[in-house]
Amino acid sequence: MANAVELTAPNGVKYSQPTGLFINNNFVPAQSGQTLETISPSDEKVITNVACANADDIDVAVEAARAALKSLEWKGISTSARGLLLFRLADLVERDRAILATIDAWDVGKPYTVAFEEDLGEVIQVFRYYAGFADKQFGQTIDTTPEKFAYTRHEPIGVCGQIIPWNYPVMMAAWKLGPALACGNTVVLKAAEQTPLSVLYLASLIKEAGFPAGVVNIVNGLGRVAGAAMTGHLGIDKIAFTGSTVAGREIMKASAINLKSITLETGGKSPLIVFDDAELDQAIKWTHVGIMSNMGQVCTSTSRVYVQESVYSKFVDGLKDYVQTATVIGDPFAEKTSHGPQVSKIQFDKILKYIEIGKSEGATLVAGGKRHGEKGFFIEPTIFSDSNDSMTIAREEVFGPFVVISPFKTEEEAVTRANDTQYGLGAAVFTQNIAKAHRVSAEIEAGMVWINSSNDSHYGIPFGGYKQSGIGRELGSYALSAYSQVKAVHVNLGVRL
Ligand code: ADP
Repeated sequence: MANAVELTAPNGVKYSQPTGLFINNNFVPAQSGQTLETISPSDEKVITNVACANADDIDVAVEAARAALKSLEWKGISTSARGLLLFRLADLVERDRAILATIDAWDVGKPYTVAFEEDLGEVIQVFRYYAGFADKQFGQTIDTTPEKFAYTRHEPIGVCGQIIPWNYPVMMAAWKLGPALACGNTVVLKAAEQTPLSVLYLASLIKEAGFPAGVVNIVNGLGRVAGAAMTGHLGIDKIAFTGSTVAGREIMKASAINLKSITLETGGKSPLIVFDDAELDQAIKWTHVGIMSNMGQVCTSTSRVYVQESVYSKFVDGLKDYVQTATVIGDPFAEKTSHGPQVSKIQFDKILKYIEIGKSEGATLVAGGKRHGEKGFFIEPTIFSDSNDSMTIAREEVFGPFVVISPFKTEEEAVTRANDTQYGLGAAVFTQNIAKAHRVSAEIEAGMVWINSSNDSHYGIPFGGYKQSGIGRELGSYALSAYSQVKAVHVNLGVRL
């Protein structure tokens, strides 16, 4: 295959890695000839180089997507045939699950077993879930007077620009491609510059599944170049973005150029509240899941923990002990590893900086607080207790294995402090009192509240944020409204002039 390299991953898996821009079902070099380098965060070695798009390449990709939108091969097929393409894609991902998990373990630093079981498991389910929706989208018929009725059609928005982050590359692509394609849109998707590989491999499966040329175009490139060319493009009708709040704000501004429809899923500093009537061992285990999964690189990580006074010390000691047994740091390809490196030197340095800030602000370092090993971007799971809400470490998103814990007295105090943030993505509440659980869930300003768990999201349940954590919802049937627009057709049954 042109624009591909044969690679052997550290676990011995050999495969053909596409390296071009995927436009019109072909892998092509960037017009400028520019490439970007991707490294393994485990050993800091270069894996390979891939084509790096600039505005000229985005123009070509958008042209391909616009042509496909009107083509008979896409617009002209039945909704069931559209669904079948997504079902086929799911089958191909299942066939090549080990390759895709290998790529994300190598390029992102995820433990292989987690990438295989969780990320890839979800990718397959998400494609099947939205495949099923392709032929199950209905408008309404609306009666008004005897002389008029109306019906609504749910039509695709058009060309969708999708900009995804590095923490779950292939899964974020699935979350965005699934509903966009089920609704009949066409797509230009840009992966994050840190993790370009698995999404390009997915592109080869999209072609193999039989999607017509131009329906899905996948590029790599820098956010401020290729990403900005997408948000400012007049040929793109919608932008869906997942990433930082800072970039989200830029994207929203740039999208104003043609009033693009937008969905944004941005940052968080999600609270987890433990009441004194909670099952403490469960609260501790879920707290670990909620902040240490994916090395803390999850936008919904419950990174601010509030524990009721009477169980506070017991909780802090319990979490410290549990983290030591439950987290196994090391080579992402080793079977027992649960905790790999952070994705990049930039993230690694940023987290170490927050650790220094936490110490200087006077919080108590209970566990972790330093790098692990000499090579790679590994950071020990880090717990600060006795933080207060004015500290930087309690206010800013760290995006690492880094949690702050502080005590509270009353339910009212817990809710007020949980909501004292610019963000509103997730929250978790631990109590055995049903009324309290639902009362607090209703008061929390966040798009998702977990009662007695944390971060066990599901593709059938909507995902998104309040406040500065985003606009719109992904997943579930809610994602369909983010990828379709409603046309009302008025039918005159007898008014004659
Ligand atoms: P992080 O800070 O974790 O790297 P970002 O929010 O900067 O996350 O990046 C998430 C995605 O958004 C990436 O694909 C990146 O290239 C893209 N991106 C970043 N800045 C912009 C921008 N101004 N316009 C469009 N895309 C951007």
